Amino acid sequence: MLRASKILKDIFGYSTFRGQQTEVIAHVAGGGDCLVLMPTGGGKSLCYQIPALMREGVAVVISPLIALMQNQVVALHELGVRAAFLNSSLTQTEAAAVERNLLSGEYDLLYVAPERLLTPRFLGLIANTPLALFAIDEAHCVSQWGHDFRPEYIKLSILHERFPNVPRMALTATADTVTRNEIIERLSLDRAKTFVSSFDRPNIRYQVIDRTNGKSQLLDFIKAEHNGDAGIVYCMSRNKVEETAAWLSDKGVRAIAYHAGMSVQMRSYNQEKFLREDGIVMVATIAFGMGIDKPDVRFVAHLDLPKSIEGYYQETGRAGRDGQAATAWMAYGLGDVVQLRRMIEGSEAKDQFKRVASTKLDALLALCEATTCRRLQLLRYFGEIVTDTPCGNCDVCLNPPTVWDGTVAAQKALSCVYRTAQNFGAGYLIDVLRGNNTERVKQWGHDKVSTFGIGKELEEKVWRAVFRQLIALGLLTTDNEGHGSLMLTEASRAVLKGQQTINLRQQKENKRASKLRRDDDLSTFDRAERDLWECLRLWRTRTAKEHGVPAYVVFHDTTLKELVRLCPQTEDALRQISGVGSSKLERYGKELLEILRSCC
Ligand code: ADP
Ligand code: ZN
Repeated sequence: MLRASKILKDIFGYSTFRGQQTEVIAHVAGGGDCLVLMPTGGGKSLCYQIPALMREGVAVVISPLIALMQNQVVALHELGVRAAFLNSSLTQTEAAAVERNLLSGEYDLLYVAPERLLTPRFLGLIANTPLALFAIDEAHCVSQWGHDFRPEYIKLSILHERFPNVPRMALTATADTVTRNEIIERLSLDRAKTFVSSFDRPNIRYQVIDRTNGKSQLLDFIKAEHNGDAGIVYCMSRNKVEETAAWLSDKGVRAIAYHAGMSVQMRSYNQEKFLREDGIVMVATIAFGMGIDKPDVRFVAHLDLPKSIEGYYQETGRAGRDGQAATAWMAYGLGDVVQLRRMIEGSEAKDQFKRVASTKLDALLALCEATTCRRLQLLRYFGEIVTDTPCGNCDVCLNPPTVWDGTVAAQKALSCVYRTAQNFGAGYLIDVLRGNNTERVKQWGHDKVSTFGIGKELEEKVWRAVFRQLIALGLLTTDNEGHGSLMLTEASRAVLKGQQTINLRQQKENKRASKLRRDDDLSTFDRAERDLWECLRLWRTRTAKEHGVPAYVVFHDTTLKELVRLCPQTEDALRQISGVGSSKLERYGKELLEILRSCC
């Protein structure tokens, strides 16, 4: 492991391994197979990149994501590592050149798309090449239950049959047991060692708010907590993406859009802009983000509910990969719950599939309605045994909701559903409960039912929260014809009969955003330090442009901050800074020292 540590410092510029990196690297460098479960931002890449440099031959990294391959290869080149990729973005001539170089041993790492790997041509090529290892990235793509299912991934078991002596590693940030077992089975990894890291991302602050006006709530959040920061905003539909991006731009946020309906050129233009420039907000459908390893994304916001907790965790995990403070923000409302339930109930899928989908939705809704620490709830969902100590860095911990006895309100709501023949949505039911004599209510004669006007004591807003929570708790469901009518469930009976009490949450008005603000390092900088920081950032922007790489590939924010704090004046002192390896020292050392000497 001495060699591994030396590579870590010399090439990558880091002085210590993170979490289980040491164990994984030792295991693979020694020729073992393994399954690595680590959260996004946990540092999976180093787990195969370092053994790739330690072992003889080329490491073949299988990734479904073209953008990720390109980004990783660019970053590796900056570090002076011999790497290439082979995928459909290359011309035939370019691909042929890569293949030639591969055969003459020019690479330590080669990234390939799974469909390319599986071609007889490629399998033939690597049969004649010394191989250091196979790394199967995003290994959860073998799972048919997951949203990233890739049929080619299932065929990757061929590696085991064809190359039994080459160590194989499967890596993923998806941690549930079902997926884990599927990976092991489908990739024939039953004798592999499994490394499970903690899935906690302590630097991410979780925050879920009741949606009243999503867009303006989002703007308030950005202005108050992340002004000028890079972030991702997820929306469910293309229209909403376009609309939100335009609206944010109008309000002075540097927002751009990304969704599958845009032209390929426009999409990649926007993606590059997000990666390369500082402080861009990307508004996108979930088509965006997989394989985006930009380390300084400071927030991920959901304007619509994600599909599942797995999805939520993967998407929010794209915030704060650099370990610095970041926020996962979500606005959620009654409409989301009704729509998602309706999508599941009304779908043509098999019952088994519906059951799985419905259980997953329940878990997600429970997270949204949490009255105790959200982080603990997330970690428990992923099967992590944790302490009962609340995290202190989620909205529930920082600003606990009030819990009230909603038994009577629930009974009124449920009996109103019953009295109106389970044929109506929440808006209508609330009209009946509050005694609103609308045309529609009169037309159906519901101004005569016993539940008409029995809910005047609660405002409409509160009733919406009641219905939302009743659906979340499974006490109401939607019809399966897709009209969105609310219907009673088996579980409703006990509440109606008064055998079960119901606790409901009431979100307190958001504390002043400033109270929730964190003291990040930037706010502790004095005037001179701020000047130096700006100087270094300008230098980084210029250098990144000259090299045609994203700013963070030159240096992470963490490295720039350390430079400001320690202000090294010699090459040796510079070498001690985290993120400064030999290649970068050689490339940038002189220029940096000049800036530092003139500024400190
Ligand atoms: P993952 O693939 O697990 O999401 P990455 O491999 O992209 O995570 O790593 C996340 C970030 O953490 C990267 O910017 C990487 O440079 C950084 N990193 C990884 N390992 C270390 C380490 N031992 N010390 C410092 N930074 C690290
Ligand atoms: Zn908490």
